[in-house]
Amino acid sequence: MNLQFFMPTKIIMGDDCVIKNAEILKKLGKKPLIVTGSRSAVLNGSLKDVTKALTENGQEYAVYDKVMSNPTIDCVYEGAELAKSENADFIIAIGGGSPMDAAKAIALLASQDIKREKLFSGEYEEKVLPMVFIPTTAGTGSEVTQYSILTNDAAKTKTTVAAPFLFPDVSFLDSKYMESLSKTTTINTAVDALSHSVEGYLSNRSNVLTDALALEGISIIAEEFENLKNFTLTREDRSKLLYASTLGGIVIAHTGTTAVHSMGYSLTYFKDIDHGRANGLLITEFLKLVEKEKPERIKTLLTAMKLKDLAELEKIIMELLGEKEKLTEEEIMEFASIAIKAKNIANCIVIPTEEDLIHIYKTVFDL
Ligand code: NAP
Ligand code: FE
Repeated sequence: MNLQFFMPTKIIMGDDCVIKNAEILKKLGKKPLIVTGSRSAVLNGSLKDVTKALTENGQEYAVYDKVMSNPTIDCVYEGAELAKSENADFIIAIGGGSPMDAAKAIALLASQDIKREKLFSGEYEEKVLPMVFIPTTAGTGSEVTQYSILTNDAAKTKTTVAAPFLFPDVSFLDSKYMESLSKTTTINTAVDALSHSVEGYLSNRSNVLTDALALEGISIIAEEFENLKNFTLTREDRSKLLYASTLGGIVIAHTGTTAVHSMGYSLTYFKDIDHGRANGLLITEFLKLVEKEKPERIKTLLTAMKLKDLAELEKIIMELLGEKEKLTEEEIMEFASIAIKAKNIANCIVIPTEEDLIHIYKTVFDL
């Protein structure tokens, strides 16, 4: 058996885990830059918990709260400038995937000079500020990945900054922060988490350990389909979704994502469709393509979800996501031509052609 597994992030999950483990923040540095979005961290209490823990430790802090959804290159350079001018010696990210991804790039750019044209090159010194992550959505798994996904206008898509030393040092998982999530964001992020484990399970970089974690994540999310649809999630259900999304993150940290994510980036970049929703719209058609060559792998996924076939999965996902957006033929051709160039296309056990991508977009969007 061949196996490699690397997960350097310390994961601490539980009620009030930030406050209960405040001393960890003291060990990481003198003064953090807190990186977050504009509103939600105030509303869900996560920012208050962090600032209380820091104040009790006698630590100063600065806040960069300008991270938008699908963070831009300008945003991460601005955040890094603030980290430097405030002499921050570590980073605390609070929020969904957007602030968490931005925080990794900020931690990198605050510790070394990287020209904009080299940002996605992977040519970095192994130097980064220590990072503490606090997810407030249960979806991206960014709290346990080495990826920072940024809007890349030059390539008209989203591109990943990745390096093995970009894993956060510590991630605090407290599902109480998710109780303020809207139904739409809860569903979209849960579908993103599902997509990570499904794509990881179908990756040619998967191994026995990532498969085990992927199937566990998939079955937990499937058990919550009904609660997601009716929006009847208890705190316990939210904890399960958070746990499953972290499992999905650990999976893709090893396997990468596949064509679903590359195709989804075009939907987000050009049509402003939420990241998780974009993946959800595309995933079943992609699974149908894989099923033709690897039916046994798809059967195992369906068994983990207690479903009989992909048609049943499609019905559930479409009930969760509601009415689809409209695309033109011209848009589909452009989106497919961009998606086929993404690195993660090569990760799947069935590598799609550009024609396959066109077929998937057309089938999903009824063209
Ligand atoms: P997001 O863009 O981080 O946040 C979406 C919205 O939810 C924002 O308006 C945010 O408000 C709000 N929000 C966050 N937490 C909330 C809470 N607890 N209560 C109420 N509202 C809350 O969404 P996301 O789906 O988590 O992240 C998507 C990003 O992650 C994309 O850029 C995607 O490419 C990336 N991603 C990264 C990885 C990875 O491995 N690194 C994997 C998958 C996806 P505020 O702006 O006010 O905070
Ligand atoms: Fe994702």
